[in-house]
This record gives sequence, C-alpha cells and structure tokens, in this order.
Amino acid sequence: MGEKNEAYLKKVYIQTWGCQMNVADSERMLGLLGRLNYRPTELAQDADFILLNTCHIREKARHKVVSRLGELRPLKEENPHLIIAVSGCVAQAESQALAKEVPYIDIIFGPDQIEDLPNLLEKVIEKSEVDKKVSESYSTNKAAPMVITKFDAKEEGYSIPIDVVPPYYDENKNEVTRYVNIIKGCNNFCTFCVVPYTRGREKSRPEKEILDEVNFLVQKGVKEIILLGQNVNSYGLDLIGAPDIHSSNGKLPFADLLYTVSSVPEVERIRFTTSNPHDFTPALAKAFADLPKVTNSFHLAVQSGSDHMLDRMNRQYTRAEYFERVKWIRDVRPEIAFSTDIIVGFPGETEQDFEDTLSLVQEMQYAFIFAFKYSIRKGTPATRFKDQVPEDIKDRRLQTLLEFQRKETERQNRAEIGKIREVLVLYKNRKEENSWYGRSYEGRLVKVQSPRNLIGKLIPVKIIGANLTALEGHLV
Ligand code: SF4
Repeated sequence: MGEKNEAYLKKVYIQTWGCQMNVADSERMLGLLGRLNYRPTELAQDADFILLNTCHIREKARHKVVSRLGELRPLKEENPHLIIAVSGCVAQAESQALAKEVPYIDIIFGPDQIEDLPNLLEKVIEKSEVDKKVSESYSTNKAAPMVITKFDAKEEGYSIPIDVVPPYYDENKNEVTRYVNIIKGCNNFCTFCVVPYTRGREKSRPEKEILDEVNFLVQKGVKEIILLGQNVNSYGLDLIGAPDIHSSNGKLPFADLLYTVSSVPEVERIRFTTSNPHDFTPALAKAFADLPKVTNSFHLAVQSGSDHMLDRMNRQYTRAEYFERVKWIRDVRPEIAFSTDIIVGFPGETEQDFEDTLSLVQEMQYAFIFAFKYSIRKGTPATRFKDQVPEDIKDRRLQTLLEFQRKETERQNRAEIGKIREVLVLYKNRKEENSWYGRSYEGRLVKVQSPRNLIGKLIPVKIIGANLTALEGHLV
C-alpha cells in the first residue's frame, strides 16, 4: 500500500444492505480503510473504491446486487482504476455466479475475510499498475474478479493478520448508540436460515478486543452499546471449548461479558440482539437482575407458537421452554418489554399451528414483533419440504397476526401516558424545531420538546401522548 501522504485523498463509497451485522461490518471495514487513508463519501461518482456490502435474506438478492453493479458500470468505464468490491452474504453464497455475471468486479470476499480487506485491495492496486504498464486499454473486460470466500481463511494461509483496528466513527454524526459485534456465524442450523452457510460457524471475538472497542466508542461520546451477533447467547462457548450451552458446566460467557461491559463507567445503557431461546440459561436472568445498565427490553425470537413447527424449524426448544425462559426474566424484571420474530406459513403449518402462534403472541403481550411470510432460501433444508403453504394463506395469516399486534402495541403505548420514563436522547427531529427523539428504558421511541440540545442526555420525561410508533413527553 502506498505511503500515508500519497493515499490521503482516496475516497470509499460503501453501500450496505440488510441486518445490523452488516452495518457493524461496514463500520469495521471503514475503520480498516481509514488506516489506508480512505475516507467515506456519500457519492459513488467521487469514489476511488466502491464496496457493496450485501444481504442474502430476501429473494432475488443476487439480482439486486447485479442491477446495482450495472448502474455503477459507467463509473468503471470512465475510470479504469476505480476498484469495485462485493462483500457480505451474497458474495459468500453466490460468488461464482457473481464473478461470471459481472467480471468487472475486482474483489469478491465473504464476511470471514473482512480483516483481509487491506491485503486484497493492495493486490488489486498492484495488478492494476502492472496492467497499466502492459496496456493502456485496461477496461471492464479485465481478468476475472479475485474471489476469497472460504471460512477460516486465516488458517488456510490467505490472511496476513493485522492488529485490531477500531471501527469508523464519524465525529460529525454525534452518535449516541453503536453496535459492537461480539460473535459471528451460527451453529444452530434452523431449517429456514442461510446464516450458517453464509456466515459460517460461531466465532467469538476475544473479550479484550470487545472491551477496547467499547472504550474507544465511549471516549467518542457513545452512551449506549448494542452487543451484536446472530446468536449472542452462545458468545464465548467456542473460547471456553464448550461445543454447546449444555456442555458449558453452567457457565454463560455471554452473561460474564455483560458484567464486563457494564463495568465501563461511561457506558450508560446496554442492549443486545439476537437471542435464541435454546442457548439461554438462568445466568442471563441473573445478569438482568444484577445489571441496571442492561435495558428493560428483550428481543427473544420465537418464530412459532406451535411445537410441531418449532420441531420442523429445528429451533431446539418447545413452546413451554420458551415460556419458562420468559418467566426467568419476568421474575426479575416485571416491566420488561419483550419483542420477537415470527415466521408464518412455514411448510406444513396448519390452521391449528397458526392458532398456536396467535395464542402465544396474545399471552406474551409483546411490545412489538417482526413477522414475515416464509419464503424459500436456496440451500436451506426447508426448501426441500414438500408441503409448502399457498401464498394466499400466508398473506391472510400474516395480516391477522399484524392486525392483532398493531392493536396490542397501541394499547401498550397508550398505557404509558402519565408515567415518568427515563429517556436517552438519540437524535434531532428533522421535521420540527426544538424537538428530539430518544428511547425509554423499555426501548420505546419518545419525542420530547426542548430548546436545548439534548443529544446524549439521559433525562426523566413525563409521557403525555402516544400513537402506534412513538410516545410524546415533557421534560420533568
Ligand atoms: S439461530 Fe438464528 S442465525 Fe442461527 S440458524 Fe437459527 S435463525 Fe439462523
């Protein structure tokens, strides 16, 4: 890579699709690129390096990426030294098809190779210099992309390890809350999910590395840390050599991590996502009891209320076990606001299975839910299930579920009126003067008026109004 002052003016444009994991990965890549003196730009036409960080969760994911690459092609034709890379889950799952369809991509790399990015970039730049000497007609017809998508690539000699770099932090954005990745991949193999195939097996970050990142962020002014992973509950099992939660001798390294992060004085609030009920032990409930910085909201994905469906989904818990875990938490945090993910119309789902889901949702009184119709994910076991549910039935079930939850969320929001809630103010309301948005301890969005800049402040607010999406409050 060039000398520091040589590279100062380089710009990177990153487009990120999908989940919070991808958002955190993009911030991490910006951190790595910052070391090479790349700065982010919001304009693709200004960039020296374009990186598309992709998501595979929706149907036709590759087509969307290919279509975006088609829009970017004129930039590559105008500037043959522009480097284009594709990362994330589409890169991992469909690298060969991508390389064939869009040969002018320079690098295709999977989520397991993020730390190799500086290396990969250096190789492409070197190659581009050689090509330039051989021919002035370096163009979009160049050689095939460099494709690196193996899991555990470091062990296979692809990687030159680099020391840990803090993620990118934009001093102008005044960010109050930030994601910190603690574990990647998943060992659970739910039959509908691509994650174990696109992100690989679970790999936890060492606690020191996580703590360094948290300390870096709080020094910048961040107040709330959201610990992130496909399944945070299994954090650290790989580090202590336990193949799963049941072989961990009662230890839950994730609970230990919550204590550690909570001990950082500048951290005001801690949230985490996502939790699989299967990998959840009483140690987590104890952490909720002991650690007031862990907020009073908990996203616990259930997916279905029917034991038959849970079994076919390979979720490895029953409806009764889900309620048991909920009770552990509600015993120590009676006001906790639960949220969840639900799939309707999974193959073989009968009316009775759906009724079981509906009754679970009614009993749980979730603050909100993310509900989706099941759709086929290439390469997952559920694609081979013969008893797929017709679309019109899935549509009807989804509408029934969402309509129930809409009323429940409104009911709960209205019940907040008159209460005093502690709100962490996150950002300015762009549509109104002297107006700010924050989140209550229970995770509800709250609008509050004040002529003062409240960003980053933890303030008591009296709730005076509510609708489906937000509460409104007065400073007290
Ligand atoms: S636990 Fe979550 S990430 Fe892992 S396979 Fe199941 S749905 Fe996918």
